[in-house]
Amino acid sequence: MTSLAFLGAARTVTGSKFLIMHNGMKIMIDCGLFQGRKVLRKRNWDDFLKVNGDVVLKPEDIDYIILTHAHIDHSGYIPRFVKQGFKGKILCTQITKELCELLLKDSAYLQEEEARYANKKGYSKHRPALPLYRVADAVESFKYFKPVERNEFINLSPDIRFRFRNAGHILGSCIVEMWIKQEREEIKVVFSGDLGRMKTPILKDPDYVREVDYLILESTYGDRLHSAHDPGADLIPLIKETYKNRSVLLIPAFAVERTQELIYILRGLRDKKLIPRIPIYIDSPLAINVTKLFESHREVYDKEARALIDDKGKSIFNSSDIHFTSTCDESKALNGRRGPMIIISASGMATGGRILHHLKERLPDYKNNVLMVGYQAAGTRGRSLLDGAKTVKIHGNYIPVRAKVTSISTFSAHADYSEILKWLRSLRKNGPRKVFLAHGEINSQFALAYKIKEEYGWDVYIPDYLETVLLDREYPLPPEGRPGVL
Ligand SMILES: [Zn+2]
Ligand SMILES: [Zn+2]
Repeated sequence: MTSLAFLGAARTVTGSKFLIMHNGMKIMIDCGLFQGRKVLRKRNWDDFLKVNGDVVLKPEDIDYIILTHAHIDHSGYIPRFVKQGFKGKILCTQITKELCELLLKDSAYLQEEEARYANKKGYSKHRPALPLYRVADAVESFKYFKPVERNEFINLSPDIRFRFRNAGHILGSCIVEMWIKQEREEIKVVFSGDLGRMKTPILKDPDYVREVDYLILESTYGDRLHSAHDPGADLIPLIKETYKNRSVLLIPAFAVERTQELIYILRGLRDKKLIPRIPIYIDSPLAINVTKLFESHREVYDKEARALIDDKGKSIFNSSDIHFTSTCDESKALNGRRGPMIIISASGMATGGRILHHLKERLPDYKNNVLMVGYQAAGTRGRSLLDGAKTVKIHGNYIPVRAKVTSISTFSAHADYSEILKWLRSLRKNGPRKVFLAHGEINSQFALAYKIKEEYGWDVYIPDYLETVLLDREYPLPPEGRPGVL
């Protein structure tokens, strides 16, 4: 008997954790942190795995973690998991391992900072406030990472094998194809992971999967269509205006993927002489390190990106206008500089990081522009700016917002519903026995479930947190055998 438990990213987008149990083997796909609402974040503090007050599973019971990609909502629980006793192997691509080494340390550092801040201000109920894990815990967890090749079949037991395919979502991201031998047949289970878009800058498009019995499919944008507009075209007028006014264009951007996409697009615009020569500063240590990772893994580039590497092997992020400011002093020196210039800095929603110093400096001048290029969650500074706030609080001071704030929504690392439907089209005609929707808010999940049913007539199910299902022909179970938790 094979069972599948949804331990996260069920009716929400964070905390990705799926558990496959078969003949005594326990394999977890992703080990993500819950983020966002407090009720979700509280789950990070629960013992793994407590159901109705009882511990039903311990981290040490898990044999393997198969990691689809390095985003914190997929990997961010690993240091805590190791701290609590996990001793198995974490299988992922080499790039995901390297990216996790950057992101998990960063995540730990932010949590330590937050705890320090809470203790200083005394706003935490816990005295002293503690981080979920520390930088040392993150470093300790790196020992358990075992990189494997994409497209290579890996045997986990005599009954279970899997392979990674390209998901085209971020650097190193994968789809998981898993084959499980049962008593009477072999089933194939596919975890889409986070599915990238077709024609994402730099990265290759997601691989198609032909055969699948049970599909666990992400549904982040199950109710949305991305604009087909070219983000480069939206940038041109803003950059021209910045040049003309000798002002500053500030772009808060996520350090992973978005910053590199921006550099790549800006370089392309410059190469085609669509924008004037203007200094571009990349001011985020994490973004700079991730850019270096991109440079050292050219095997993931698509044809267009590959074509840009010249005979001397020059980087695709290299241009005489682009400057990387790693040190604090270099960053501070930007404050005294006059425009025109573009500053790209993290965090993407202006919740922390060096972007705050630049906002403080540049928001009061009506000539400057702030451009939002990513999702701005409710309650963040980025969202307030976008909603037209007249002042924002930064480091305890109220800063007047006179600069013009705009956004472009053409950037996204996730497929929209039409791209998901297109990806599904490659599956054999009668489709999977069951599609389980994960990694989405309930509204997008309903929308996507409806569209899949309408277009393909397949059986779609939206599992809830901690729900367990059986993966065999008898599914769904008769009412008295409705799967409980584990
Ligand atoms: Zn992701
Ligand atoms: Zn995700």
